[in-house]
Amino acid sequence: MNFDVVIVGGSYAGISAGLQLARARRKVLVVDAGERRNRFAAQSHGFLGQDGREPGAIAAEARVQLECYPSVAWVEGRAEGARRIEGGFTVDLGNGRVKTARRLVLAAGVSDSLPDIPGLRERWGRSVFHCPYCHGYELEQGRIGVLAVSEHSIHHGLMLPDWGTTTLFTNGVFVPDAEQLRQLAVRGTTVEPALVREIRGERADVVLEDGRVVALDGLFTMPRTSLQIPWVEQLGCELDAGPMGAFIRTDAMKQTTARGVFACGDIARAAGSVALSVGDGAMAGAATHRSLMFEAD
Ligand code: FAD
Ligand code: MG
Repeated sequence: MNFDVVIVGGSYAGISAGLQLARARRKVLVVDAGERRNRFAAQSHGFLGQDGREPGAIAAEARVQLECYPSVAWVEGRAEGARRIEGGFTVDLGNGRVKTARRLVLAAGVSDSLPDIPGLRERWGRSVFHCPYCHGYELEQGRIGVLAVSEHSIHHGLMLPDWGTTTLFTNGVFVPDAEQLRQLAVRGTTVEPALVREIRGERADVVLEDGRVVALDGLFTMPRTSLQIPWVEQLGCELDAGPMGAFIRTDAMKQTTARGVFACGDIARAAGSVALSVGDGAMAGAATHRSLMFEAD
């Protein structure tokens, strides 16, 4: 075997897993395609000691610290697939390059697809967001929209009044029932049933089909998420359904349903953050080390 562990994905979760393994003097390869989920945002919030910092800077500093350990190797690129072999796994790095390892850690995150409304995508991470804890505070109690994508969006509509004056654009995807309307009224959320035509302006003004324009400081919506590695199921990893998309099922130690395969970060939870990814990564790293010490290959 070339390595004890190959980690697919070298962002917050993968680097955190790698740190534990490197500190246990294990041979680790990190393969990273360099497309962090939060690359659209200028600042990352809510992570201890790094609040408000540029998200790429947090990851870059973590990478430098990980690469100080001599048993760590790093490849920039995409793992095209992985397959179980006797005693471990092969990982296909493309162009005929294949590496072997006794264990795999999957930390490849998810990618987001947004509702197909003109003007939405280019504002993602700047004035269009998903997570109020990450980006709500900076809206300074201003005018906030929630663009519904399904009935789940009611939760956004009920939460966001804590961050500003909120309008829920149901956009034809659902009609709130009497009880939901009562809950929204209690929270002070305005419901706007007209269809949304486009998002425009410096922040995220909503243009409705009937021509009205609702000026906003920020807009929240729920993306659909998809796993960045389509080959996880071939490894025997079972998935769970989340409100935004499927994620890899793990136990509390971040072991997947496939022997020898661990998963951490956004790829392995219903909704993630930098802090949760780092925590999951630390757990996955320690659990992978435990498996190397005490379980058969
Ligand atoms: P990611 O950071 O997404 O990294 C996954 C890595 O794996 C990427 O580098 C990717 O290229 C790589 N990869 C994927 N497939 C492969 C492959 N086949 N081979 C090799 N490498 C691969 N969270 C906060 O806590 N605070 C915030 O302020 C915040 N703001 C956000 C803003 C936006 C717009 C978005 C979309 C998310 C935000 N988040 C924020 C959430 C945060 O980005 C994620 O929770 C976090 O990035 C998950 O970390 P991760 O390591 O699991 O995955
Ligand atoms: Mg990662």
